[in-house]
Amino acid sequence: MRRTRVFLAVFLAGGFLLLFSFPRSPHVGLIKIPKDDGPVWTVLARLGIDVRQELSSCFLALADAQDQRSLRRQGVAFSMVDRDARRTDYVVVPLREPGDLEALRERGRAAAVEPGTAVFWVPAGATLEALPPGVPRKPLAASSVLPYLRAPAAIVRPAAAAAAQDPLVDLIAAQVSETGLRSLVQSLQDFQTRYASTAACEAAGEFIFNVFSSLGLDDVRFEPFDFSTGFLSRNVIAEKTGETYPEDILIICGHYDSTSPSSTRQTLAPGADDNASGTAAVIEAARILAGFQLDFTVRFIAFSAEEWGLWGSRAHAARARAAGESIIGVINLDMIAYADAIPEELEVIVDSRSEWLAERLVSAAALYADLGARTTVDSSFVYSDHSPFWDNGYRALLAIEDNPLQNPYYHRTTDTIDTLDFDFFTASARASLAALAELAQPVREGYPSTPAGLTASALSYRSLFNAVKSARLSWPGQAGAAGYNIYRSNVSHLNYVKLNGTPLESASYADPMLRTDLPYYYVVTAVGPTGLESNFSREAEIAPDILGLPVSGLTLFQMLRFR
Ligand SMILES: [Zn+2]
Repeated sequence: MRRTRVFLAVFLAGGFLLLFSFPRSPHVGLIKIPKDDGPVWTVLARLGIDVRQELSSCFLALADAQDQRSLRRQGVAFSMVDRDARRTDYVVVPLREPGDLEALRERGRAAAVEPGTAVFWVPAGATLEALPPGVPRKPLAASSVLPYLRAPAAIVRPAAAAAAQDPLVDLIAAQVSETGLRSLVQSLQDFQTRYASTAACEAAGEFIFNVFSSLGLDDVRFEPFDFSTGFLSRNVIAEKTGETYPEDILIICGHYDSTSPSSTRQTLAPGADDNASGTAAVIEAARILAGFQLDFTVRFIAFSAEEWGLWGSRAHAARARAAGESIIGVINLDMIAYADAIPEELEVIVDSRSEWLAERLVSAAALYADLGARTTVDSSFVYSDHSPFWDNGYRALLAIEDNPLQNPYYHRTTDTIDTLDFDFFTASARASLAALAELAQPVREGYPSTPAGLTASALSYRSLFNAVKSARLSWPGQAGAAGYNIYRSNVSHLNYVKLNGTPLESASYADPMLRTDLPYYYVVTAVGPTGLESNFSREAEIAPDILGLPVSGLTLFQMLRFR
């Protein structure tokens, strides 16, 4: 008996050793799976394929022999990018000029996976370090992104409705000061270099920390992380805690590190546009919002080691996911101050799941900053701090001056403050702050307080012939509220339509006859005795029923989801 136990223990220990000494099974390869309008998404989900990157036309996944057999059996076309994925780190890089692919192949192995995008790697080597300096880069996600993918069929294309200007948000946006932005960019440029790994970069982080501390914000902190081989740097973080929903977070961020050619970057990398501009706008937003009470928490982040491979944001987004943080949306500002044409427009890049967030920024730009802005849905644009949030299932946008980039000083020692357009820069900062403030909701003096909790559950009834669904909403009744209004949309955070006529008296609502293939989003407001209406509650989601699963006779299920 005892001998059996010892044997078993040794056997198990040996098994674990084997498991951990080979990070991936010997037959795991990196494959490319082209996207389509439906079946592929369902098959990937059903097989639990280890997808590590969504691009605009395909997925990149790690797949062993069995996965590959299953995909073939399901009729899913895929191609092999690299047969042996053991001990290899892959990096997505852009192909911008003819000859880029050949240049990569002088440093390691590279394959074009779609027009404009390549995967680069050094078998069993240091992939990021092998890349030519200055090349934008995005390592594959550290774990599967499959749980966060959503088939296009379930997505309603957002379009911003003409929204009305909110005087309080206008007041907030108007406080963005050109003088303030100028002085912050000058201070950051004066560190000479902010190339991550240099003492000057760490000093710049210290400077940002001190500014945050002087503003009376909550929880000002460094977030240290390791990067590359043995380097250490720090993100700098501050928060403004939400009054109604402290757990629900909006993020505004930008990277403060900079770069220039390898011969100069240790001593001179002014990075005024890239990205003192975004950092200054984040600090300016922090300065202004410090003076307001908000319904939701706002987190201000200056990331480091972005230029080395998004190290700071990858560390932060992974920790947020591991901690189960509820992040409503992320506004990432990277190069928002150079104008190649006047009037300059702001480009807003999102993946399809974050499109509503872009529409909110586009609408805020028009309403509060007299700035033209344009949404581009492109999940292949992964070369800044928004993309690690995509990898972790959060909604995130990138605001950038041009796509493709036009700034001739990009990643050079000439990226200095005198090349910036402060009219465009101030407008970009105003637009971002206004979008953020609209989402975080300033608390209004004399108005009813925002309903503090909203839950939504769905009841589906399916037979062979039809499918019916209803939603049930409830929230804690509020002292002082004379009634409530319910709003609904098929798109998150956009185009809410009021469902009730006169305010409801009870703190619950049933919404029958919903479609089973669409998502529904609800918010509730409290109405005071004189008719004044509160801000929106947090949004509750009724997800579409899972498609592609066999329905046996009658399925009854309940879903409970919060944002
Ligand atoms: Zn940048």
